[in-house]
Amino acid sequence: MDLRYPYRLPDLPYSYDALKPILGEGTLHFHHDKHFKTYVENLNNTLQGCESCQAKTLEELLSDLEAVPIDRRDAVRNNGGGVYNHALYFCGLTPRRGSRPTGALAQAMERSFGSLESFRVQMKQAAVGQFGSGYAFLVRDGKGALSVVKTANQDCPLSQGLWPVLCVDVWEHAYYLDYQNRRADYVEGWFSLINWEFAAQRYEADGQSPA
Ligand code: MN
Repeated sequence: MDLRYPYRLPDLPYSYDALKPILGEGTLHFHHDKHFKTYVENLNNTLQGCESCQAKTLEELLSDLEAVPIDRRDAVRNNGGGVYNHALYFCGLTPRRGSRPTGALAQAMERSFGSLESFRVQMKQAAVGQFGSGYAFLVRDGKGALSVVKTANQDCPLSQGLWPVLCVDVWEHAYYLDYQNRRADYVEGWFSLINWEFAAQRYEADGQSPA
């Protein structure tokens, strides 16, 4: 994802009613048009006056937070992560049903998890088990192996040297209108919305190659 300063809110890659009944129009309007937009605005504000930050891509910033001036570092972690994670989340969903992992991603899933079902179990455990707000991610390491990690707040696995392939947002704003407190039901629904075509591209993306 070529995200760089000045940041803009990407369009939702499908219509607001496309993911019904798993995610309703209200959820997508609030989540994309309000929450995601606020991270974009706050990230632009955070980077005002920092030319070294503005010259980098968002992936470069998040992959090396130590290089961000200390007075802006937390704000870049939070707002930069908020922009990157939301871009990944929305692109990782699709109204097309029934797709499966393909190509190199399918082989890596088999090697790393044994089966798609085993991935589902691990991902659900991470997503439901994340205490408070955060995410569960499917990530690739520098050798091509896949694993599941969870992060708090808007922390992005890029900052741990891991390449994010897919994520499920488990902040309450992602599901409360449709599921109230039933996070596990939302995560179950998320599995049926996964855009495996996008995930396969992410898996093979050059990106920055984690160490
Ligand atoms: Mn969110």
